[in-house]
Amino acid sequence: MVKVPAPLRLLIDRDALVANWRWLAGRSGKAACGAAIKANGYGLGAKPVFKHLYAAGCRDFFVATWAEAAALGTLPDDAQLSVLHGVRAEDIGFTNQIRARPVLNSIDQVRRWQEAGGGVCHVMLDTGMNRLGLTPEQACSGLLDGVKINTLLSHLASADEPTSALTAHQRAEFAQLSRLIPAERYSLANSAGIMMGGDYAFDLTRPGIALYGGIPLAQADGHIRPVVQPQAQILQIRAVSAGETIGYGETYRAQRDMLIAILNIGYADGYLRCWSNMGEAMIHGETRPVLGRVSMDMTAIDVTAVDAREGDWVSLRYDLPEAAKASGLSQYELLTGLGQRFDRVWQ
Ligand SMILES: *Cc1c(COP(=O)(O)O)cnc(C)c1O
Repeated sequence: MVKVPAPLRLLIDRDALVANWRWLAGRSGKAACGAAIKANGYGLGAKPVFKHLYAAGCRDFFVATWAEAAALGTLPDDAQLSVLHGVRAEDIGFTNQIRARPVLNSIDQVRRWQEAGGGVCHVMLDTGMNRLGLTPEQACSGLLDGVKINTLLSHLASADEPTSALTAHQRAEFAQLSRLIPAERYSLANSAGIMMGGDYAFDLTRPGIALYGGIPLAQADGHIRPVVQPQAQILQIRAVSAGETIGYGETYRAQRDMLIAILNIGYADGYLRCWSNMGEAMIHGETRPVLGRVSMDMTAIDVTAVDAREGDWVSLRYDLPEAAKASGLSQYELLTGLGQRFDRVWQ
């Protein structure tokens, strides 16, 4: 297939990704530090994320589905890939062909896995989030007798909310269950859980968002580096006269004569309409506002008195914690929403 360079790209900083993992690994103390690479590595590309983190020493990787596991292709022998959503009837025929292990979440999943041969697996316990996993009662009912558990997991619901009492409750519940249910390893902490300190690390931590530049809690500020920078090319420059409006719905009216640039990026790329009259772009050292509504494939910015030309590249402001605050979206949505039209450029 012919590969045409896209007019928009995500610059991805490999050194920052690796530095973030190293910092999280340090904060995990004696526990091993893994990596959640579901949703195509939070939008960056699961394969390159895997490659760079494996080279840095990471050995435990988490995806959501068997399709995501298959998409990673052949993995090094000492890498452990875990499928967080467990195993459906549709997956069973593939589990022999893909070197990954399910995280079993329900009674049905445990039975299905045991009936299919019962190889080594992982088990998720629900300690208060009410999302995935066996209840403590189910887990202690004898259901897990004979199940070969590598890692017993649970997941924190509110570790990024410093005032929540649920986090400590979940930790205590998990610690108690870890004494009742034998497994080779125990794992509780996501990115925010790692920030909670050594009591939360157990044997294996599972950061996601912080690897990719998200700041889960204030303690990570100044340590976690940004990883992703969206850029778009200028499609057209145009002169707008005072009194004219820009874009759909006439939401911006020029107060003076101005020059604007139309960028090759829009809400279909995950540059959402919340940035209408609110986003900012950096061009030739200047920071300029988004003008009017973001369209599906285009966004206008002010380039008055900037030497901007068609074809120039512009960086969109996309600092995750700041963008989350400004937009009301989560850092997770801001990352995973970045679409398929970007060329992902590792540097
Ligand atoms: C996504 C996920 C993680 C990573 O969470 P972050 O908040 O991105 O660090 C860890 N564990 C489980 C079970 C997950 O689903």
